[in-house]
Amino acid sequence: MKKLTLLLITFSFLFILSACSQEKTKKSSDSSSTASRQTSETPGNFNFDSKTVTLNSGYQMPVYGLGTYSLHGKECKTSVTAALNNGVRLIDTAHAYGNEKEIGEAVRSSDVPRKEIFIITKLYPDQFSDPEAAIEEALDQLDLGYIDMMLLHHPGNGDVKAYKAMEKAVKEGKIHSIGLSNWYIEELEEFLPQVDTVPALVQNEIHPYYQENDVIPYIQEHGITVQGWYPLGGRGHTQELLNDPVISKIAEHHDKSSAQVILRWNLQKGVVVIPGSSNPEHIKENTELFDFELTDDEMMQIHDLDRGEKHDWY
Ligand code: NAD
Repeated sequence: MKKLTLLLITFSFLFILSACSQEKTKKSSDSSSTASRQTSETPGNFNFDSKTVTLNSGYQMPVYGLGTYSLHGKECKTSVTAALNNGVRLIDTAHAYGNEKEIGEAVRSSDVPRKEIFIITKLYPDQFSDPEAAIEEALDQLDLGYIDMMLLHHPGNGDVKAYKAMEKAVKEGKIHSIGLSNWYIEELEEFLPQVDTVPALVQNEIHPYYQENDVIPYIQEHGITVQGWYPLGGRGHTQELLNDPVISKIAEHHDKSSAQVILRWNLQKGVVVIPGSSNPEHIKENTELFDFELTDDEMMQIHDLDRGEKHDWY
């Protein structure tokens, strides 16, 4: 019974989302003033023409990007450069990845103007006791003038204090938008009443084997954009997911790769994707998500793959 209710809720949500996106696409072709219209869109809604989402902070963020969790040194720089050269404008990093410096270097040496690139970084719980110093360190490491989005990596002692320091840094113009990572319904219910700024983004583990179909609508109903980490299942699990017979069959039908189908499934659910890769061909492939559309039936087939199987502990 519980499963059936969940299925019905998800189905209605997908229907509303698809109706909104279709309406938006229609409006886009009717009007020549895309930029001015975007700023008045409801936060959380994706614009598939500009490939961006307007955050509740008023800023626009690309709906796909590059994850840099396991990229370091020269490989990190060349991967970020390959991503920027292939039109990727969103880069996800964190203090814990130890690569903010390389990412800043790659962005600075790119021909793409800084203001067109969206950088996300994160504070780790061991930084929450002195968040002001941690924010300054991130600004210093990246050396890009400002940070587009800073998240708390996962809940920990002092997280409210750290969030308040990020709120202050927003007022000072050091950070544009702030958010959380690895916060679920219970954690959000406890956290939100303690802070002034509704997070612009929540970044959580989301892939076909761990779908968070209860958490995603909860976050989106609060006007918060959702971003999925481990979109391809994460290292060690990627092959099983990419070879999943249901996903492979859908991919074959659309003449796309399994990775593209999974990323597109996320986008149609209103989830921003940040797949990680150091392979320029994969990086390019992961941007080609806008020339096909999954049917409601295909979305449901992937929905049915959910196993509640988390691939990391946060
Ligand atoms: P992922 O699910 O993105 O999978 C990465 C793996 O998929 C790599 O082995 C890569 O070679 C492969 N791959 C990428 N594109 C492919 C393609 N087109 N075809 C075939 N294989 C492909 O895992 P990830 O990179 O670890 O996670 C994504 C990002 O999420 C990270 O880089 C990081 O930025 C972020 N992240 C955040 C948290 C958090 O707690 N906030 C935790 C983990 C990861």
